[in-house]
Amino acid sequence: MREVFFSFLASLQTQPLKDSLQKLITCVGEAESYSWLFNETESDGSYYYKACGGFVPFTQTTLNSYLSFPENSNLTEAFKEYSALCTAFTSLDPTADSLFSAWINGTQFLINSTNVNKSIPSTFPIRLSQERLLSSFQSLHQLYFNFTLAFRSGVLINGVVLFLAFFLFLTKRSKLKNKMVRYLKSKLVLPALFDTSHHAETKISRNLRTILPTRGEFLAVMLFVSINFIFTACSYPMLATHDQSKAYFFMRCIANRTGGLAMSLMPLTILTAGRNNLLLELTGLPFSSMIFFHKWIARMMTFQGSLHGLLWIGYGIFLDPSPVVSQFSEGYWNWGIGISLVSVGLVILSIYALRTSGYELFLAIHILLGVIFLYGTFKHCEQFGWVGWIYMASFLWVADRLLRLWHLLISFGGYRTATVELVSEYDSLLRLAITSREKESFEFFPGCYGYLYIMDRKLFWQSHPFTLYEHEGHFEILMKAKEGITQKLFSKITSKGVKIPLRVVLEGPYGKEAPLSDYSQVLIITSGAGIPGPVSYLEKVLTSPGRVSDLLFVWVVPNESVLLAMSGKLISVLMNRISSDMKFEICIYLTRSYEEEFSGSISKDVKIRHGRPNVEQIIDNFCQQENADAAVLSCCNPSLDDFVRKQVARNVLYTNRQLDFYDELQVW
Ligand SMILES: Cc1cc2nc3c(=O)[nH]c(=O)nc-3n(C[C@H](O)[C@H](O)[C@H](O)COP(=O)(O)OP(=O)(O)OC[C@H]3O[C@@H](n4cnc5c(N)ncnc54)[C@H](O)[C@@H]3O)c2cc1C
Repeated sequence: MREVFFSFLASLQTQPLKDSLQKLITCVGEAESYSWLFNETESDGSYYYKACGGFVPFTQTTLNSYLSFPENSNLTEAFKEYSALCTAFTSLDPTADSLFSAWINGTQFLINSTNVNKSIPSTFPIRLSQERLLSSFQSLHQLYFNFTLAFRSGVLINGVVLFLAFFLFLTKRSKLKNKMVRYLKSKLVLPALFDTSHHAETKISRNLRTILPTRGEFLAVMLFVSINFIFTACSYPMLATHDQSKAYFFMRCIANRTGGLAMSLMPLTILTAGRNNLLLELTGLPFSSMIFFHKWIARMMTFQGSLHGLLWIGYGIFLDPSPVVSQFSEGYWNWGIGISLVSVGLVILSIYALRTSGYELFLAIHILLGVIFLYGTFKHCEQFGWVGWIYMASFLWVADRLLRLWHLLISFGGYRTATVELVSEYDSLLRLAITSREKESFEFFPGCYGYLYIMDRKLFWQSHPFTLYEHEGHFEILMKAKEGITQKLFSKITSKGVKIPLRVVLEGPYGKEAPLSDYSQVLIITSGAGIPGPVSYLEKVLTSPGRVSDLLFVWVVPNESVLLAMSGKLISVLMNRISSDMKFEICIYLTRSYEEEFSGSISKDVKIRHGRPNVEQIIDNFCQQENADAAVLSCCNPSLDDFVRKQVARNVLYTNRQLDFYDELQVW
C-alpha cells in the first residue's frame, strides 16, 4: 500500500533529479556532441553506457568533466557518486577504484576540445570546455527546478482552493455581525455582480445571452485566476546557453510550467462538476456555484494547456523548424495537439447560449469529449510523468458515477411506479407523483432535489433535476413544461384529471437544507411553480419550529390553478402543525386571477390577496424589525429571486441583526 501511495506521489510530476545525476547527464550530453569510434551495437542501450566504462576514452572524458565541477573537489566522494550512478543506470558495475584508475590513466592523453575535429571519430579522451559544461548544467538544473516549481505551484493552487473550502466550512454558521462583516456580506458576497442579474439571463448582444455570478462567486474566481497568473508568471531564470538565447530558454520554461499547471487543474475540474462532491459538502454552496467554478477552472486549464502547446510549437519553429516537422511522427505530440483542440472545443460548446439551445445534446457531447480529453492527456504524458493528476481526476469521476448508481439503485431502490397529470394547461404545469417508493433509504429533507430518469425507449438516458415535496406519503414534483423531456410529457396528456402511469427512478436526494429552525425570524418568499421547496420548509418550521418565533410565508402565484393544485398540500401542512407560541402568517398573492375575486378559501390561516406584492416593502419591513437573528429564504422565478437577493443584501448593511439569505433557486 505504501509503495502504491509513493509511486502515485511520484507520478504527479517530472521526477526531480539529484544534482549528481544532472552533472552526469550534462557530461554525457556534451561528450556526445563529438563523434566516437564506438560501435553502438555493443552498448546495453543505456544513455550512460559509454560513460560508465563501455568505451574507455568516452568514460575518461566524462569522468574528467564530472570532476571539473567545483562541488566535486572531494575526489573520493565524487568517484563513489559516479560509480553509484553507473550501477543504477547501466548493466556495468564499475567500482570507484576502477573509475579512479581509468581517470588517472586518461589524464595523460586528454586533448583540449578546441583541438578536436568533431567529424572525425575520437579514440582519445577530450577535455571539454568548462564554460560550456557549467552553462549546460545550469540550463538543465533550471529546467528541472522549473518542473519542480510547476508541481509546487499546482499543489499550492489546489491547496488554496481547499483552504477556501475549509474557511467556508468553518464560517458558514458564523454568527458574526459586526459592521465590517455586514459590509462585506452586503457589498461583496451576496449581491449579483450587477444589480439584479444573477439567475435571470443577461443579454450581452442581440444574439448572445448569459447568466452572471454573484459578487462572492466572481471574487472567488478572480482570486483563482490571479493565483494562476502569478504562478504562471513568476520565478523564471533568465539563462542563455551556448545553443539558445535567454528568450528561447524562457519560452521553454513557460511551456513546461503551463503544462504542469494545466495537469494540476484536472482533478479540480472534474471534482467541481460532480454531483457527489466533497467541496459541496464542505462549503454548503449550491451546485450551480460549483458549475460556475467548474467552468472557470476548465477555462484556466485550457488556457494553460493551449499556451503550453503553442509555446512548444513556437519553440520548435523558431529555434529549428526540422524538429517540429519530425515531431508529427511522435504519438505524444499528436495527442498534445488533439487534446488542445478538444479542450478548446469543450470550452466553446459550454457557452451559455449554445449549452441551453440543446442541453441534453450538449451534455452528451461534453461527457464524450471529456473522456477523450482524459485518455488523450494520458497518452500525451505517459512517457513524461504527471499522469498522477489524470489518475486522480479519473478516480473522482468514477467515484461520482458509482455514487450516482448507489443513489439510484440503493437509496431510491430502482424504477418505481409514478403518475403524471395536468395541473394547468395555461401555465404548462404538470404534477408527477411517485406512488411507490422506499421511504427509509431515501432521506427526504426540505429543499432537496433529485434527478429524474424516465423508463422510455427514447428518454431513458436523460436525467433532469426537480425539487421534491412529500404529500400523502409519496413524493411529488411540480413540473413546468419547457421544450425537451418536460414538453414530451406535457404533450402526452390530453385533458385534466387523466393520470398517465410511468416508471421512474430518482437519483438523490441532493442539495442542502437551510437551517431555518436556528433563527428567531424567518421570511420565505416563493413564486409560481417554485413552491415545492418552500412548502416543505414551511411544513418543517410549523412542525418543529426550533428557535423560530415569527414566520412570514409569501407565495406569488399567477392564477388559481397552481394555487388549487397545491391547496391540498397547504391544508395538510396547516393541519399537521404543532401548537406553539410562534406567530406565523401565510400570504398568497394572485397576480393574474381568472376570476375577479378568488372566492375559495384554503384555511383561515392563509390570506389571499390580489395583485402583485410590494416585495421591497415586505423585505424592508421584515429586515427592519426587532433585533433578532433572521433568515430570508427565496425560491422564485429568476427575476424575482434576483430582486429578493438585492433587497436582502441592501438590508444586511443597515440592520444590526444577524441576517442571512438562503437562495434555493439554481440555474446552470
Ligand atoms: C436544482 C434544480 C431544481 C429544479 N426543480 C424544478 C422543479 O421543481 N420543477 C420544474 O419544473 N423545474 C425544475 N427545475 C428545472 C428543470 O430541471 C428543467 O426545467 C428541466 O430539466 C427541463 O427539461 P427539458 O428537457 O424540458 O428542458 P429543455 O427545454 O431542453 O431546456 C430548458 C432549460 O432547462 C435546463 N435544463 C435542461 N436539462 C437540464 C438538466 N439535465 N440539468 C439542469 N438543467 C437542465 C437548461 O437550463 C435548459 O436551458 C430545477 C432545476 C434545478 C437545477
